[in-house]
Parts: sequence; C-alpha cells; structure tokens
Amino acid sequence: MKIQPVVMPAIKTIALVAHDNRKREMIDWASWNKPILGQHLLCATGTTGSLLESEVGLSVTRFRSGPLGGDQQIGAGITEGHIDFVVFFWDPLESHSHDVDVKALLRIAAVYNIPIACNRSSADFMVTSPLMGGEYVRLAFDYESVVSPAEESGVRL
Ligand code: PGA
Repeated sequence: MKIQPVVMPAIKTIALVAHDNRKREMIDWASWNKPILGQHLLCATGTTGSLLESEVGLSVTRFRSGPLGGDQQIGAGITEGHIDFVVFFWDPLESHSHDVDVKALLRIAAVYNIPIACNRSSADFMVTSPLMGGEYVRLAFDYESVVSPAEESGVRL
C-alpha cells in the first residue's frame, strides 16, 4: 500500500468531544489551555460545544450531539480531510447508546493517522507539543491505491 503525505496546517482544526461524566474535566482542561485552543479552529459534538462556548468562551462549530450522530460527523470530517486533531474525553466506566460510534471514531482516527487524545494528560502533552505551532506532514496510508479483489478479477461493481 502506498503512503500519502498529508500537510496539517499551522492552524489546525481540532474536534472536541466529552461524554457526560467527563464534561467537567473537558471544561477545566479547555479553560487551562484556552490561549492555545484559541489559536486554532474548533469543532465539537453538540453539548460539548455549547459548554465550551458558554463556560469557556471559545468559538466552536457545533455538530449534532454525540448520541444523535455527532461522533460520526467528526469521523466523516476526518475522512474528508477537514479535521486534523481530536480530543476525545470518553468515559471508560459507562456504556452508552452510541458505543459503536465511539469505537468507529477511534478506529477512523487510527486509519487516517490523526492525533487523538483520550484523556487529559495526553491532551496536555499534545497541545503543548512544538509541532502544534507549525505545519506537520502526517503520513497516511493511501487506501485509494488498494485494488479490491473484485476489481482485480475484472468484476464490474
Ligand atoms: P455531546 O456528545 O457533546 O453532545 O454530549 C458527546 C458524546 O456523547 O459523544
């Protein structure tokens, strides 16, 4: 499979998601890191985004609430190349109606080699990395270069 370099711009689009039991922590973390986050473009699932706007004063593009497809919208943003970076404070101690979406988001971030922080300390290390302030070339697998067995055998889809 070919590797495709993808340029991540200096101003990154960061997606933020926090499950209900982790929302307080997300607000604290975002308040602490507001000067850094304010230099980037932010998007979030519905309720997380509302809280980041009202409690922290950040400007956020809001998707649907997580259980209504917000996590999937973030996953789609990653596949379409619109989202560079994810901070996802998921709750490892509760099951949710949209657990499959959580798994899908973690998976798609791995597929596209997107940085994803799933807890506060990882998020601290990530946003304070010297790589945050400039362009970064992320290496992603070029899945388009893969020929499916059907294509290889000449089957028309
Ligand atoms: P919310 O969604 O920000 O709308 O609460 C988060 C989630 O549960 O995935």
